Amino acid sequence: MQAGVKEVRDQYNSVVPDTRDEISTLRGIGPYTAGAILSIAYQKPEHAVDGNVMRVLSRVLLIKEDIAKPKTRKIFEEAVSELIDSEDPSAFNQGLMELGATICTPKSPKCLLCPVRENCAAFYSGEQNELPIKSKNKKVKSFFDFVRNNKDLMPFTNRQQILDNFNTIHERMKPQLEKLFSVKPKTQFEVKRTEVFREASSSAEYNQGSLDGTRTGVFYVPIPNPTTYNTYSDESLFLHEAIPGHHYQISLQQESTELPQFRKTLWYSGYGEGWALYTESLGKELGLYTDPYQYFGMLSQEMHRAIRLVVDTGMHSKGWTREQAIEYSLDNEADSEASITAEIERYMANPGQALSYKIGQLKIRELREKAKDELGEAFDIRQFHNQILETGCVPLALLENKINRWITANKKLKL
Ligand code: SF4
Repeated sequence: MQAGVKEVRDQYNSVVPDTRDEISTLRGIGPYTAGAILSIAYQKPEHAVDGNVMRVLSRVLLIKEDIAKPKTRKIFEEAVSELIDSEDPSAFNQGLMELGATICTPKSPKCLLCPVRENCAAFYSGEQNELPIKSKNKKVKSFFDFVRNNKDLMPFTNRQQILDNFNTIHERMKPQLEKLFSVKPKTQFEVKRTEVFREASSSAEYNQGSLDGTRTGVFYVPIPNPTTYNTYSDESLFLHEAIPGHHYQISLQQESTELPQFRKTLWYSGYGEGWALYTESLGKELGLYTDPYQYFGMLSQEMHRAIRLVVDTGMHSKGWTREQAIEYSLDNEADSEASITAEIERYMANPGQALSYKIGQLKIRELREKAKDELGEAFDIRQFHNQILETGCVPLALLENKINRWITANKKLKL
């Protein structure tokens, strides 16, 4: 879009072209944006078809073509071109889009509140919840279902076996931990079942030890039913919540003899959750992810965090509705609608928190790559991890400055 605006300035003397053909040649301008500009700026009866519009029209007109297929979009564009109000095309396009965003929502349209209910063919045939038809990601989704329901991945009969499995993961990675870390916390660590009174609504989590070291750090695992406990993401979960994720980072911060007292308990989500997510990507270096299901577990968590970047930004910066964010998540991951709705409402209530994971992870990976490139053979991954961990939680900009200074100092040593 930015490139397109520059082109308008340079090639069209700052006057936006008023034909679809010309607008469509601008970089970053697709058919939807072209139609929106033409109808808003020039009052031209041009279609602006996005996902909301396709959802509404597929129901109103009972269009059963698969909207995931690019050629189906043409059907909707032609339908809008026929129906559009030539007196006020901008209001027509905007109204359709808003109807899809607020009333004609993805899985449970609010038909009783709908102003076009009298004209909606799907409402009369009772098919409003089945439309639109969208086959996208079916293969991926069916694989998610396969993994979720695979009894081979639910091998345990009692809770202790599940806790023991996490300790086995820890034992397997121990020899490799020393290759990546030269420090380890003194704070003791254990894996426990989440208390019964709260486990039905809990996620796995880390609970830090006490500042004086008398209480251990605990990785809590909710296990309401051991026979349906699916192991496919156990390795990435252990790396993130336990070692070398939250247990290493938080314990080393609390044990530091360099940090002032108030910084020992300071928390910045971009750093803390960024570190934990970064450690999920260390699985191969730590001798894990040899089982493809475990690797898939890590990748599906990556996807979940990447989706957050889109939906959190969409809602808090781009004017997305709750329903648009739910639809986007449903299209791109295989969690249940109930779980996705709960997640989206979490992001609504706490802007930016959920996207801090991926932003922090990307920054740490970027700094690692930069240090590796600039220091070459002098790059030592153990020193790099020390540099990250010894600061305790800080804003990412400060972390970046610190690592840049460390790289510069080490380059001078090389000379
Ligand atoms: S009646 Fe229901 S399905 Fe039809 S357009 Fe309105 S909200 Fe959507």
